[in-house]
Amino acid sequence: MSYIDVHCHINAEDYGNVFELLEKIYSAGVKKIITVGFDLPSSNYCKELAEKYDWVYFTAGYHPTELKNYQKGDLYKIEELCKHKKCVAVGEIGLDYHYPDTDKALQKELFYSQIELANSLKLPVQIHSRDCCEDTLNAVKQNLSKLNNGAMLHCYSYSVEIAQIFCDMGLYFSFGGTSTYKGSKRAQRAIKALPQNRLLTETDSPYLPPKSIYGTFPNTPLSIPEITANMAALKEIEEGEMRSQIWQTAHNFFAKLNDK
Ligand SMILES: [Zn+2]
Repeated sequence: MSYIDVHCHINAEDYGNVFELLEKIYSAGVKKIITVGFDLPSSNYCKELAEKYDWVYFTAGYHPTELKNYQKGDLYKIEELCKHKKCVAVGEIGLDYHYPDTDKALQKELFYSQIELANSLKLPVQIHSRDCCEDTLNAVKQNLSKLNNGAMLHCYSYSVEIAQIFCDMGLYFSFGGTSTYKGSKRAQRAIKALPQNRLLTETDSPYLPPKSIYGTFPNTPLSIPEITANMAALKEIEEGEMRSQIWQTAHNFFAKLNDK
């Protein structure tokens, strides 16, 4: 079984030679990656990459901190991208109250309308949530009937108690490089407590490098083996078992990963 990165951002600005990077990733055993859009241009770029490489998949959507250039009508274009046979989810969407100039109302509007979109297209969603645990919880509760096709929290960073509530509502969780840090007690407790078949691996490349390359930029999907091994150690199972479980979970969760 191979490794999978369910959430990364592969772009020319940070990586230079994307072709060479992708060759390296595939040779390292990371045999599928999902490159994630955060606005319209990035979603378009992700689509182009997925059209070039049969093992690269993508998502399309508007990230909550990337709404400055958002224009009415853009969601129709996101919708068209989502209909692509290799677009496996709507994302990344969600809420982020980290920055003081946050337009919470606009974030919420876009989060809800993109959940609506995912529901109408029968796609799962990749949710980004930072510094807004309660509002995310409420949003998921309010929209639960529209999240029947799957919802995944990327780079999960809240408490194990909150993880349990999301888990009871049927959500999935992906963890990246930060879960390998000694100080990441919350992520590690959540990994230990959550059912094995709700866990996924991601890098959020070019951000969030794991322990072994801490402080470097850019991070790449080559970090997936380290993240997987760390997860296996926390679950106290063989790395190979963890790896095949994650591969299976990802293919159950993202139905379009199975399409040829
Ligand atoms: Zn991301």
